[in-house]
This record gives sequence, C-alpha cells and structure tokens, in this order.
Amino acid sequence: MKVCEVCGVREARVLQKHSRRALCAECFTADIVERVRGEVARYSMFSPSDRLLLALSGGKDSFVLMDVVKELHDVGRVGIVTVVEGIEGYNREEDLEWLKQSSRTYGIDINIVTLKDFVGYSLDEVVKLGSLRNLGVSPCTYCGVLRRRAINYVARVHGYDKVLTAHNLDDEVQTSLMNILRGDTARLIQNHPLSPTLSRYFVKRVKPLRKVYEWETSVYAYLKGFRFQGAECPYITSRPTLRAELRDYLYEVELSRPGTLLKVLEAVDSYVERVLLSKASQLPELPQCELCGSPTAYGRRLCATCDLLSRLGIVKAVPY
Ligand SMILES: [Zn+2]
Ligand SMILES: [Zn+2]
Repeated sequence: MKVCEVCGVREARVLQKHSRRALCAECFTADIVERVRGEVARYSMFSPSDRLLLALSGGKDSFVLMDVVKELHDVGRVGIVTVVEGIEGYNREEDLEWLKQSSRTYGIDINIVTLKDFVGYSLDEVVKLGSLRNLGVSPCTYCGVLRRRAINYVARVHGYDKVLTAHNLDDEVQTSLMNILRGDTARLIQNHPLSPTLSRYFVKRVKPLRKVYEWETSVYAYLKGFRFQGAECPYITSRPTLRAELRDYLYEVELSRPGTLLKVLEAVDSYVERVLLSKASQLPELPQCELCGSPTAYGRRLCATCDLLSRLGIVKAVPY
C-alpha cells in the first residue's frame, strides 16, 4: 500500500499530478476545501454577513460547490437557484430531485426557474426559431444570456449579496483564452474576480472553484459518494465551438505538462490586475436598454437579451 504523502497514515488514492503528490481521500478533499478558502479570501469573494445564492445545475460541480460552501459559510445565509432550460433529451429530473433533497437536508431556499416561464420560450423553441431565421447563433449563446438574466433576477428580487457559480479551472482557462483570441479586453476584465460591478442592478457573481481542476471536481464528487450526471447537453456536440476546440487542446497540453492550466490562469489574473483593472474602476454606471430598461454594455442600444429576442422576432421585456 502506498501511503498518503500528507498525513503519512492512510492509503494514497489520488495522484495529484500538478502538485506531484499522492493523497488519501481525506487529505485530497481537505486540500480542495483549503484551496477554495484561500481563493475566496484572496479576492474577498464573500464575507460572513453575505447572503449567497448558489447557481446550480445539479451536476458534479454543483455538488462540489455546495459541499465546499457549507464548510466555509453559514448555511442559514445560503440559497439555491436552478434554471430549467427546456432541452429535450437532457434529463434533469434526477438533478432537480437531488437539488430539492439538498435544500430540504440543509433547510435552505431553492428557486426553480424555467426559461419557458421566464422568457416565454424554452431553449429548444428559441434554438428552433433561430435556425428558421438562419441567425447562426449557437445554442450556448442563447442559453448563457438567458440563464444569466434569470439568475440575476432571482438574486436581485430575493436580496442576495453574491451569486456563486460552479465554474472550474478548465472552464475559466477556456473562457480566458477565448477572450484573448477574440481581443475582447472588456470581457477579460469582467471575468476577473475583482472586476467592478458596473450597475446597481447586477448582483456580483463569483466563482469559488476557479482554481480547481475539472478532474478534481469529478474525483471529489466520487470520493464523497455523489453519483454522476447521466446526460450531457445534446447541444454540446451540435457544432464545434471555439470552446470545444480549446478544451481538447488544453487537455493535451495539461496531460504532457501537468500544472499548465493553473499557471495560465495565474498569469491572466496577474496581467488583468497589473494592467487592466485600474482602468475598469473609473468606468461609469452602465447605460439602460431602450426596450426593457436593463443595464447594457456601453454604446449598445439593446441589452443582450432584447437583442437576441428581437432577432428572433420576439418583442418582450424580460425582467432583470
Ligand atoms: Zn492523507
Ligand atoms: Zn433589454
């Protein structure tokens, strides 16, 4: 039996390649909790008095976020929101059941929002309208914009101080590289944990798991007895997005040079902190969308939601 390199007592069960350590289950999960604690403190993601809204889908990353947050925060000040997109064949009943069960176990509020109720159309209906009109917008774009809107709305009307999402290190490096490749400095800043909230109508979003590898969230969930999400979103494979290409590329790089993803995100963080953040702090309050009144980007007449919906021929002021 190989012994854990941290406690020196229990059997090592996980090889953590980026740290070159073999760890037992307890030391591995404790390492994740402590790294998240460190990241939360480093960027003051939330304070003890904050009311936190966890935006969860029900998959393994959701499980890990919930499990870690209850170690770090008073569960009496935590709530859950989950958005049901309305995607056929993407079975969410089990995931929803687990989220409802967790909310009962910990006695926390759960808000379930369906896009059908919130926007008037399910994601499938939106995608269908988009392809009828040949808009060339990927399903992930509709989904991202509409989910974000629904989550912010729930956080705002229920008076939460922060929205926590379960994005992991792999997600964050993909997003950073996408923003760099597109030359999108504004989004590069927005994605940094210290980016200013540019409107009083936006609830600050933070990502406590941003330095935890995707494989680590899988192993954490497995070691804690969480069963895996069965279905993958059918739209993921519908066409090769830049994100999917980067995911495959980064997987190869990480395999041959363990620790690369961590180094990339740390380099991006430090670049944004040294060069870009000071400019962002002088920005004025965001302008309002002409159709719905929601905050929108500088120089834009419509917010992203109204823009997408109007291109689909839908005129509706979705709440924000
Ligand atoms: Zn150990
Ligand atoms: Zn709008």
